[in-house]
Amino acid sequence: MSLFQNTVKRIQEAAQLMDLDKDVERILSVPERIVEVNFPVKMDSGELRVFQGFRVQHNSARGPFKGGIRYHTQVDMDEVKALSTWMTLKCAVVNIPLGGGKGGVMVDPKELSPKELEALTRAYTRAIAPLIGPEIDVPAPDVYTNAQIMGWMVDEYSKVRGMRVPGVVTGKALDNGGSQGRDEATSQGGVYVLREMLKDYGLNKPGLTVVVQGFGNAGSHVARMLAEDGFEIIGVSDSKGGLYCKKGLHPTEALICKTHTGSVGECFTAGDTCERITNEQLLELECDILVLSALENQITEKNAAKVKAKIILELANGPVSLEADGILKKNGVLVIPDILANAGGVTVSYFELLQNLAHETWTAEEVAKKLEPVMVAAWKDVDSTAKQYKSTLREAAYITAMKRLSDAIKLRQGL
Ligand code: GLU
Repeated sequence: MSLFQNTVKRIQEAAQLMDLDKDVERILSVPERIVEVNFPVKMDSGELRVFQGFRVQHNSARGPFKGGIRYHTQVDMDEVKALSTWMTLKCAVVNIPLGGGKGGVMVDPKELSPKELEALTRAYTRAIAPLIGPEIDVPAPDVYTNAQIMGWMVDEYSKVRGMRVPGVVTGKALDNGGSQGRDEATSQGGVYVLREMLKDYGLNKPGLTVVVQGFGNAGSHVARMLAEDGFEIIGVSDSKGGLYCKKGLHPTEALICKTHTGSVGECFTAGDTCERITNEQLLELECDILVLSALENQITEKNAAKVKAKIILELANGPVSLEADGILKKNGVLVIPDILANAGGVTVSYFELLQNLAHETWTAEEVAKKLEPVMVAAWKDVDSTAKQYKSTLREAAYITAMKRLSDAIKLRQGL
């Protein structure tokens, strides 16, 4: 089954549990609009390459489409459809008035020069310009896209429109209409939810051990935040390799080392308490909390039974497959699902949009003060729904979101 088919299956399963209106289920099972664009880019060598990109607008019942743009060789229409569906559900879980969308370009950005990356971003922006805008569809960073890329998007879109439109994307740099706290928002939101869960489930004790898969934006921030809160980070990995330190590691040092060596897997010296491990080994380490902050389908039916963590925090989108869900449930592994765990990112994107539209700039304290109650409320809603339906947290997050979406869809469609 494809990623999107899996996502629809999860919608159907939750729909059955909550006895969702069939018309609403049908509407949520397909995107409102899917777009493929093919655009030429002149490479530094003078060669012309045609790149393939996508934008999927899944659902706008609760507000403008919202969701990131990813640059990756694995991007395809099916993946973007699944990711856009999760955005719709995610925005509804945290109860912000936005819908779901997602975009992507099939490219390995690490192979491009900065000039080529800029040209590609501008060409993609022109190609999707008729579909986006602050009231229509608002992109943001995702895998291998960042504030600089958002800056080029704003600039190109503003040229197309003939006016300055900072609210066309979020995740911009601070000096370019960005919001305080956006960079670390995904991790911060996940930390708030994890903290509430540990408290409510009576699992909180000092020195809980943590393994983090993916040491990019979300992974490196979450490792630092959890270490500051007294958790012990014992393993981290990136796309090139992993590091296991049985006596704990220092996330900031690991990040500095990764910047120098290119991978956290290189960050050990012979004879110390750390060793190099593979990504597969990392996922199977004995630990209290496994944070997944890389790509989708990392825990599947192949390795789910080998997971020794007690809790999985999904900071990535879709890191646990549908089949793996069942195995983890049977083994008593608690999964804090992506559409709740990583919703802090889009929540601060929403704050950024509000600041842009109101010509305001909020302080870091103001952003944090607004993010925390949103995440805590979302956790409480999902947790109480899980208790009511005797369901997993993932099923409960889907039910929570789909109830809100159902109300909006019914009011709009007159169902
Ligand atoms: N790409 C992030 C996500 O998957 C953020 C999306 C946004 O801020 O719009 O949630």
